[in-house]
Amino acid sequence: MTGRQPEARCLLEARDLSKTYEAGALFGAKRKVVAADRVSFCLNRGEAIGLVGESGSGKSTIARLLARLEPPDGGKIFLEGIDVFERERRHASLWYRHKVQLIFQDPFASLNPVHTVAHHLIRPLLRHKRSTRASAWQDALDLLRTVGLEPAEEFIRRYPAELSGGQRQRVAIARALAVDPDVLIADEPTSMLDVSIRMEILNLIEGLIDERKLAVLLITHDLASARYLARQILVLLQGRIVESAASDVIVSNPFHPYTRALLSSIAKVEYDEADFRHSLEVGREEESRGCPFAPRCPEAFDLCWEEDPVVVDLEGRGVRCHLYTTHKVGEC
Ligand code: SF4
Repeated sequence: MTGRQPEARCLLEARDLSKTYEAGALFGAKRKVVAADRVSFCLNRGEAIGLVGESGSGKSTIARLLARLEPPDGGKIFLEGIDVFERERRHASLWYRHKVQLIFQDPFASLNPVHTVAHHLIRPLLRHKRSTRASAWQDALDLLRTVGLEPAEEFIRRYPAELSGGQRQRVAIARALAVDPDVLIADEPTSMLDVSIRMEILNLIEGLIDERKLAVLLITHDLASARYLARQILVLLQGRIVESAASDVIVSNPFHPYTRALLSSIAKVEYDEADFRHSLEVGREEESRGCPFAPRCPEAFDLCWEEDPVVVDLEGRGVRCHLYTTHKVGEC
């Protein structure tokens, strides 16, 4: 761990966050699965960063680490320059929960079916002392209007089963807003919604960034969504960032072969996860002690199998690929 100070301008900074799980049969050999490998980024107020990767790349683990639903094995999180693990070693306090909120992927599972919308909104309002008992009902109505659920007086009395997927996700966003957070961690917030609804939710989040100066980490498999919302994109492969750059730059001219594979999937009218995963999984059974993408990479060459690439800084773009290291540059 370095001794450098947190970036002064970061609202939320992840520094070298790491997490490894053990996987395998109950009585069989265990293997280690690296879900986060020294992941670092700096998120500022009033902006979005897109964290993009295929299923199993570690995106949701990073969301859970940042939401502090589980501890990392290593690394630090700074909130407003404060080392959160030094401030509170075990569990996240109301202070952290008030500042950083997580929106889950599945709007059907994230709301309790036995409670009304009113219950889901009034509970955090009171717990975080954002409302008094006298004002909570009115504040909940205002939250519903903020997320575009009108007439609010009608929606507030409904149960989750009486809402569409898009409406449930709006309620989930309203619940996150109830504590007046500074940071939203949005874990695949549109992936379980109809294509026609996805843009509405992205527009809602974009409006919140503009109006409330929220900082948003958008976690998604979809580069198009990330480009729409985010200033910067981080591409995640097996728990580590392999390419990072401004959104337009990365989408218009991806350098890393994995980013190009992700990008090719959005050329389709509709995302076909099974088809996409198949295209990436060719050769996955082969093990590489070099670049972890080598078994699937159409551009792999000898060095890729022998040596793990390091991140190269190419005029503000970070790329972790031997195609851009000095080993290969002379041959390109
Ligand atoms: Fe492909 Fe080699 Fe680059 Fe890995 S280092 S992405 S295998 S070209």
